[in-house]
Order: sequence, then C-alpha cells, then structure tokens
Amino acid sequence: MPLPLPTSTSPNTQRTQRTHRQFSHAAAPTATEHLPHIVPDLLPYILAVVLGSVGGASGSSNDDDDSGSDSILNSDKSPLELYDTADAGVAVRARRDIRRGELLIAELPLLVWEEGMSAVELRRWTDALTDSARATLFSLSRRSDDTAIAAEMHDNTDESAPIRSANGFQLQLPDVALQVSSREGSGIVSDGDRNRNNKKNPNPTPTPPTHASFLFPHISRINHSCLPTCAQAMDWSTLRMEVYAMRDIPRGGEVTIEYLPGLVAMSSEPRKRKLKDTFGFECKCGLCSASLHTLHQSDSRRAELADASLSLADPHTQLDRQGMIGQLERIHSLLTLEGYTLVPEFTHNHVSRAYAVFRHLRSTHIADDSQSQSQSKV
Ligand SMILES: [Zn+2]
Repeated sequence: MPLPLPTSTSPNTQRTQRTHRQFSHAAAPTATEHLPHIVPDLLPYILAVVLGSVGGASGSSNDDDDSGSDSILNSDKSPLELYDTADAGVAVRARRDIRRGELLIAELPLLVWEEGMSAVELRRWTDALTDSARATLFSLSRRSDDTAIAAEMHDNTDESAPIRSANGFQLQLPDVALQVSSREGSGIVSDGDRNRNNKKNPNPTPTPPTHASFLFPHISRINHSCLPTCAQAMDWSTLRMEVYAMRDIPRGGEVTIEYLPGLVAMSSEPRKRKLKDTFGFECKCGLCSASLHTLHQSDSRRAELADASLSLADPHTQLDRQGMIGQLERIHSLLTLEGYTLVPEFTHNHVSRAYAVFRHLRSTHIADDSQSQSQSKV
C-alpha cells in the first residue's frame, strides 16, 4: 500500500485510506475477534498510541456499546450484512434501516505492519499467525491486477502480500507515538527527554514510524464509493476502526466508504486514474458509472471545490473574514449539491479543519435559529 498520506483532522477522528479489492465470495466472518498480530518493531509505538489516547476526546465506542465492538457482520446484533452483488462479488449492506450518525462497526485490526519490511521479515511474521487468524486472512480477496505495484508485489514470496495490499489501511499514527524512545521497546519518554537524548547520543535512536498499516477483516469488505454513505475513523484509545453512517441508509442499501482522502476535489478522470493507479481497480461506483451529463455536472462542482479550497489555502489570496466565510459557504453549497455527506478532506489539512468547524457552527446556528423561530411563533 504505497499510498499518499491521509489528511487527518485529529488522531481520534482520523480518516483513512485503504486499498481496494474485488470481493471474493468468502465465508462469513467468525463471531470472535482476534488479538491484533503486530510486527514486533511496531508494538511499543502502538501501545504508546493506545496509552496516550485513553481518556482522550473520543470515547465513542465502549464495551457497553452493542452497535460497536460486538458488531460482526451477519451476526444478529450487527446492522450490517454481506450480500452477493450481480457483478462485484460480495458487498456490505444495511440489515435494517440505519440512521445517520449510527456507529455501525468498531473493529480491532487482525494485522498491523510497516510498509518497507523485507520479504523475510514479513514471512516470519505471518508464519506466526494462529491458524484461525490465518484462515480469516486467507478468506479475504487478493489484489490481482497487473499494475507495476502489483507486479512488484508478486515478486515477493510472501503469500499474504496481495491480500494485505488489497485489504489494508495505511494510517498516520498520532503524535503520541513519536514519543516512544526506541524500537527496542524501552518505553515512553517525553519530547524533552528525547531531545536531550539526541544531543548527547552520537547514535540517536531511529526515527519513530509516522505510519503503520492495519488490516480489519470485516471493514475490509466494505466497498469504495466516490459518494460514500459512511465514513471511517480510528479510535486510538481502543485501537478500533469505527464506521459511521453519514446519511440515513434504508434496509438493503449498500454501505460504502471512501478509500482515499482528497478525491472530493478531483473530477472523474483524474479520480478514477488515481484509484486505478493506487489500487488497480476501475471505479464503478454510482457516481463514476452515472450518465455523462451527471458526471459533467459533478466534475464542474469538484473543480470548483478544488478552486475554493485552494483559495483558502493560498496565503497570497489574503482573504478577509468575509471572503473566507464566502469560500466556506461556497464549499458547503457545492458539497450539498454533489450529495457528499462526509466531512471532506482537502489537500490542505487546515482547510479541512476550517470547513469542519464552519459546518459544525453553521448547523448549530441553523438549529438555534429554527428553535428561536418556533419559540417566537409560540
Ligand atoms: Zn467512483
């Protein structure tokens, strides 16, 4: 998964990017979760992330939350189920009516690894999987396209590589991970300690990882769409990836997520090319397979979105307060027209954050307004 970096808004609400696979018809997921199989070098960092995030702002999933941690596709409790599509293998849909904002699944990773590990290291690591974890892993689909990335991967003797590539998420680790002192797992130090250490030590500790790859066996079955119905976010305090409905989904409606950040400001051709280059698949989502007329309208909106976000990001534009709000309003109406319900991720992190705050304030303001109007009517 040699993917570009995600532009997250915060560690606990970090959007993700992932690779795509065509779903193969696989056995239903098991009803128990595996303990994550983490490469030894990464373990201290991942533990630091979890410890550093406990008690943080998220807390959206907890052990009492039936809709979250216990959710396994096709179990009675899950709002999600697998189904056969006519042309794209198995996909995920709503078992019942789903309300916007619902947490649909919160899942521990099966695997956590680093890109760039050698084939020998990876083989040794995957050989240590338990039988049931291995069975789960090998029940997932594998990348089979013939792009350069895939060809490189197939030179590898590691049989799990095309599966990891097709089903993994590459995530940016929260800053807390950077406070771990060494890859030998000696513990966690403060930034100050680390700086002192670096000044005195002629052989400073290796640069801590900024990213790691995660494979979530159930979430990996959810298809990509350029107009997704759901969004994923990592809760680092529990090491679970959560998927939320971003709109009401009727029973039987497909559950989709967006695999890459930044697609919202790309028109169809570069967007499809990027998906193809990165994951080796041809996007045939509802938008990408819409009529030329619809695609053309969408492309114009997305080009305008790119323009608006760039004007906010460009320090030379020197927008005044009114100008900024104007651009944010413009983004908002373009997204509404497009039917894009996620909090978008633009190339510049701070634009994404500014829009997220703007949208929140805007919805609060509208709610306040309608409340005061209804009160004045009374
Ligand atoms: Zn698409």
